[in-house]
Amino acid sequence: MTEDETGATTSPTLAMSDVVKRFGSGATEVRALTDVSLTVEAGEFVAVMGPSGSGKSTLLHVAGGLERPEAGRVQVQGIDLADLDAAGLATMRRRDVGYVFQRLNLVPTLTAVENVALPLELDGMGHRRARREAMEALGRVAVDGPLDRYPDDLSGGQQQRVAIARAIVGDRRLLLADEPTGALDSVTADAVIELLATLVQERHCALVLVTHEPRFASWADRIVRVRDGRLTEETRPSGIGDEIEAATR
Ligand code: ADP
Ligand code: MG
Repeated sequence: MTEDETGATTSPTLAMSDVVKRFGSGATEVRALTDVSLTVEAGEFVAVMGPSGSGKSTLLHVAGGLERPEAGRVQVQGIDLADLDAAGLATMRRRDVGYVFQRLNLVPTLTAVENVALPLELDGMGHRRARREAMEALGRVAVDGPLDRYPDDLSGGQQQRVAIARAIVGDRRLLLADEPTGALDSVTADAVIELLATLVQERHCALVLVTHEPRFASWADRIVRVRDGRLTEETRPSGIGDEIEAATR
């Protein structure tokens, strides 16, 4: 719990405690997450690093309610996801959580603005209002050029900005980004990470970013490392404070 500007206590945007996630059973069982605890407050940017297959994507899927854990607790904005039925979970995913994936997942037959408006329209918002909010979200991520272009007519960087606009539209508070720059050149990738970091500040939302690039992780407030499904350490990006602390212990 933390106090907001008005002095009221608020729940963390994401609170995971002792989460276990397994796939399969018996001899083929994979323990993708073991006793994972992670709290992310509004306004915080946490980077998740770790080798391939260590459980990073599973961590995001469980955090965002795409997968249910076998044990432990996941709360988004103070709501325990275990208390939600399938419909409640679907609503929570649409309204509160924004996902940005490595593959951009834009619908090729919809224009940029239609792609961003889609989650709002799926949630029952009228067409005009959804379009207006989509334009506003696109403005926030600085997509220039005609918004009525189709994804195939946009550059990779523009497509990723559209995907980010879709993730933040409707004021979603928890952004989950899984290697969102994998398909981009390095200059464009830097711009996308800077944009995400700026959005966290401006909108006071929470961001969990999976990345294998230390350069991108250095933008984060905290870095969490996953190894064999466990969170192994938590460092501040600079690491200097920790080294001094360790040396004086
Ligand atoms: P990362 O994103 O760090 O590469 P993942 O979270 O994708 O790792 O996977 C963690 C482990 O869980 C891996 O061993 C992977 O094979 C396994 N896994 C992930 N998703 C599934 C699934 N749907 N079915 C079976 N095993 C899975
Ligand atoms: Mg992954």
